[in-house]
Amino acid sequence: MGRFDAPDVSYVTGFGVEAWRERLVVDGFAAYRADQVLSWVYGKRVSSYAEMTNIPRAERDVLAVRYPLPVLEERAKLCSRDGTVKWLLGLSDGHAIETVLMRHRYGCSVCVTTQVGCRIGCTFCASTIGGLQRNLGAGEIVAQVLHVQRMLDETKERVSSIVVMGSGEPFENFDALVTFLSIMTHADGMAIGARHITVSTSGIVPRMIDFARLRSQVTLALSLHAPDDALRTQLMPINRAYPLADVMDAAKYYIAHTGRRLTIEYALMRDVNDRVAHAEALAQLLKGMLVHVNLIPVNTVRERAYERTPVADVQAFVAVLRRRGINTTVRREQGHDIAAACGQLRASVLASGAVRDAVAE
Ligand code: SF4
Repeated sequence: MGRFDAPDVSYVTGFGVEAWRERLVVDGFAAYRADQVLSWVYGKRVSSYAEMTNIPRAERDVLAVRYPLPVLEERAKLCSRDGTVKWLLGLSDGHAIETVLMRHRYGCSVCVTTQVGCRIGCTFCASTIGGLQRNLGAGEIVAQVLHVQRMLDETKERVSSIVVMGSGEPFENFDALVTFLSIMTHADGMAIGARHITVSTSGIVPRMIDFARLRSQVTLALSLHAPDDALRTQLMPINRAYPLADVMDAAKYYIAHTGRRLTIEYALMRDVNDRVAHAEALAQLLKGMLVHVNLIPVNTVRERAYERTPVADVQAFVAVLRRRGINTTVRREQGHDIAAACGQLRASVLASGAVRDAVAE
C-alpha cells in the first residue's frame, strides 16, 4: 500500500455499477442480488444492510462484513443564511473532511472532497496547510453525496449537480475519481447527468490528457488564477512542474478531443492578479479558445494574507474580458458567514485541536 492510499476497505459504494454486479456473481450471489443492493443504497439511500428487508438476513450479514456501507460521522454542521450547509465529516480512520451543499435557483449542488488535505500548495488555499494526508477511496467520495442527499430527502429535494472542488486535487486520485463519476452518472447509481458535474484541476497535465481521452460529458474546470508563469508559480507552485505553456497545450487538446467548452477558474485577489493588465494578458492567453471564464472573488482566508477584490475592480476585469470576446461570469458567493471556502472549516477545527488528524500527530 502506498503512503497516501485510502484504507483497504471494500465499501459497497466504492464499486462502479457494472463492477459491483460482476463482483457479487463471482462471490456466488444470485445475479439480481446486486441490483437489489444498488436500489437500497442509491434509490432508497439506506444507511445499513439491516434495512434491506428483501434480502435474506444471512446474506445481509455476509454483505455487511465484506462490503460495508461507509459511515461518515457528523463532527460539525454549519448552516448559512443563504441555505449553504457545510459539514466536517469523520472517516473511519479518524481523519476529517469537508463537504458542502449549495442551494441555487436551479437546484442543489454538492461540493465533494477527494483527498484528506492536499499537496498542491496553492498559496491562497487553506486545504493545503497541513499537506496531503491520504487519498479518499471512491466509496468515501460517493458517501459524501449520499450523506447530503439523505438530509435533502427530508425536504424532498434532490442533488442536481456536483462540483469536485473540495479539498484535494482530483487528478492526483484519478482512478477513484473515475469510479466516483461512473457511479454518479449511472442510471442505477445516482443518475445525475454528466453535464451537471464539474471536475476542477490545478493543471496536472498528463491526467488532463487522460481525462480528455475518456470523452466524458463531465465538465472540466482548469484553475488558472494567473496569466503568466511568474505569477502563477507564486500562487500555485505546481506551475513549476507543469508550466503554463504545457497546461494550455493540454487545455487545447481537451477542447479539440472532446468538443467541450473548458471552464477557466480565476480567483481574484486584491492587487495580486486583479489588475486590468492581468485581464488583458488573460484575454490574450485564451484568445480563440472554447472557454468560459469563471471569476471568483476570494473569500478572505484567515490563515492566508489575500484580500477580496473590490466590486468596481471585479467589474473592470470582467469588462476587459468581455470586450475581448471571452465568455465570462462572476461566481456568486455562498456561505461566506460559515467559512465555506475549501479547507477553512477543517483548518480552523484542526487549529483548535478538536479533531484527531495526522496533521496534529
Ligand atoms: S486550491 Fe485545490 S489544488 Fe490548490 S491547494 Fe487547495 S485543494 Fe489543493
